[in-house]
Formats: sequence, C-alpha cells, structure tokens
Amino acid sequence: MATKKVKSTGRFGVRYGRRIRVRSLEVEKTLKIRHECPSCAKKALKRISKGIWGCRTCGLKVAGGAYSPEFAKKRPVIAAAKETKAVGKTEE
Ligand SMILES: [Zn+2]
Repeated sequence: MATKKVKSTGRFGVRYGRRIRVRSLEVEKTLKIRHECPSCAKKALKRISKGIWGCRTCGLKVAGGAYSPEFAKKRPVIAAAKETKAVGKTEE
C-alpha cells in the first residue's frame, strides 16, 4: 500500500529500511512515467524491458539505461567510446 512518506514503495511495509525504500522510490519514478520520445517528441516512451524503451505512438525502440531512457551518467555511449580510443592512442 502506498504511504505518505515512501509512496509506492510503501508496499514493502517496514522491510528493508527507510533509506532503501526512499532510494528505490527515486528509481521507480523514472521507471514508470512516460518519457519524451526522441523521434516524435511525444511523451509516449515507456520501458519495455531492462534497457529497452519503446514509443507507444511511433513504435520506435531504443536502447537506454535500465531504469531511465538516459544512462545514469547522462553521457552518450559514442562519446565514451571515443574517449577510450583516445586513451589507447596516448599509451602507444
Ligand atoms: Zn515516438
């Protein structure tokens, strides 16, 4: 049951401790809401599975973070790959 203090994670009752319930609530917030679609810009992007996000309107499927469409550090994967390449070159 949802509670005033920890909302939806109130379903865990008194288990796991308050801090963990608050932290999992933060995750659940981004997990369950509809996000903006990068293709049609409508708020219709929903999580299909871990790291997979799908748009309800245009049918787009994109890879993203496990709990939010953006990765935790909000850094594009391509940029991260370039950085590792650059590191490799300096070591030669
Ligand atoms: Zn879309």
